[in-house]
Amino acid sequence: MQIKRLKLSGFKSFVEPAELRIEPGLTGVVGPNGCGKSNLLEAIRWVMGENSPKSMRSGGMEDVIFAGTATRPPRDFAEVVLQGETADGEELDVTRRIERGAGSAYRVNGRDVRAKDVSLTFADAATGAHSPALVSQGKIAQVIAAKPAERRQMLEEAAGIAGLHVRRRDAEGKLRQTEANLARLEDLMAGLD
Ligand code: ATP
Repeated sequence: MQIKRLKLSGFKSFVEPAELRIEPGLTGVVGPNGCGKSNLLEAIRWVMGENSPKSMRSGGMEDVIFAGTATRPPRDFAEVVLQGETADGEELDVTRRIERGAGSAYRVNGRDVRAKDVSLTFADAATGAHSPALVSQGKIAQVIAAKPAERRQMLEEAAGIAGLHVRRRDAEGKLRQTEANLARLEDLMAGLD
């Protein structure tokens, strides 16, 4: 899918409503240390349904709400809107909003939906909060320093085959269990002879 626009309000350091237009092609974010570059990438992950506070560099999910500074009071909510177009040419407008004490609420094209629906929407569009297309700062150093086995794992994730290993392990476990059952059955049948 093509992300076209990102709107943030009260999300981390973006206390004032901010709107970014994202043009086709590769997008890089540059700026001085601490200006909010990583927060932007996190906003994209967050609106796509990221539910791990750790990957938002937060202790709890409400920590994404602007916490206030010496001169500005904290905000009560954070909202991120992602607008884009799917490969089928459909317009997609996804909103996630979190209020203190009230948790997260999602909307897709103006309709209230569940977190699961948002994850599925992005999975169908072949992207999502854990997509390898979102490259954070540390990730590049991680790829360079990775051992061959780790690099292979990253490539497998990018190729979308990482899930096959999980299914293979499951299948091997079932096979072993079935073999054990068969051996037991043979013992029982031998006892009947
Ligand atoms: P660097 O280049 O050093 O990695 P960066 O441009 O990626 O920096 P970020 O890490 O995105 O910057 O932003 C960090 C800033 O965001 C810090 O100033 C931090 O105080 C601020 N920040 C993070 N969470 C919140 C919050 N909930 N409320 C207010 N400010 C926040």
